[in-house]
Amino acid sequence: MDFADLDDALPHRSPIRPERLGPDSEIRFDCHPGMPCFNACCRHGEVALTPYDILRLKRRLGLTAGEFVARYTVPFEMDHHGLPGLRLAVREGGACVFLREDGCGVYDDRPVACRYYALGSLALRRKESSTVEDVYFLVREPHCQGHEAPRRLTVRQYRREQGIESYDEANRAWREILLKKRSSGPTVGKPSERSLQLFDMCSYDMDRFAAFIQSDGFRRLFALSDDELAALLADEERRLAFAMRFLKQVLFGERSIPLRPGAREARIAERRAVWQQRRAAEIARWRLAQAAQGGEEGD
Ligand code: SF4
Ligand code: SF4
Repeated sequence: MDFADLDDALPHRSPIRPERLGPDSEIRFDCHPGMPCFNACCRHGEVALTPYDILRLKRRLGLTAGEFVARYTVPFEMDHHGLPGLRLAVREGGACVFLREDGCGVYDDRPVACRYYALGSLALRRKESSTVEDVYFLVREPHCQGHEAPRRLTVRQYRREQGIESYDEANRAWREILLKKRSSGPTVGKPSERSLQLFDMCSYDMDRFAAFIQSDGFRRLFALSDDELAALLADEERRLAFAMRFLKQVLFGERSIPLRPGAREARIAERRAVWQQRRAAEIARWRLAQAAQGGEEGD
């Protein structure tokens, strides 16, 4: 996507101002519990979740990723290929499931979308360039009075104050995957059902991914030493980074995780043998059915 396409990328009648801001642009904004609109933003809108949001929230709540997803999220499709996305669930009336009388119930681990608000961000790639650039926008919605406050600060200061940098860093590879998929357009085509399932696991379920990288099938195919595996199992952030490398390998053919010598050929031969057995069984069934039909006609 080129910067010229920016207006097209923004939703119709969006409250987002298509005025591009950089890290050193100055904004006028403030938000604290004394604001007359305190918590109004948590009663509106939908909070899309990133992989690192889920890691932080499920850890805070002492849940497995699967339990967290089942209790606190709703699924949606991120694109027309059905790329799976997750949003925070809302209560009746639209308030966020974590909103309490005194504010956010998960404040220290709130999602990155909540940290950004009322700033928006978009990753853009210039035409014929591999460089991805983050651009920012102000999001002005009628319920938010933070724009009327006198405080001035730069986008960089705001991101630091809200603890956004570590979130963006942990999600960087995931955002690259989304951008690459979006900008490659119809040339790449719809990912297979299996690829979508792997995207779902690698993005949102580090517990399931831990079991996956310990499986016989994974260990037979990828050259992962026992020490490397132990390090990945001990550290979820590290595991998430590895999951993104794996996903880039699956979706775009990037070879960053080495395969065991001969493993790919052995796997292809294994699949071919299974396919031949199935085919032989189908032919045998068909012949039996033909023979039975012939017998009935002869009676
Ligand atoms: S997670 Fe917290 S900050 Fe974000 S919408 Fe919910 S209550 Fe508000
Ligand atoms: S509506 Fe705006 S100013 Fe009010 S609490 Fe939410 S972000 Fe802060």
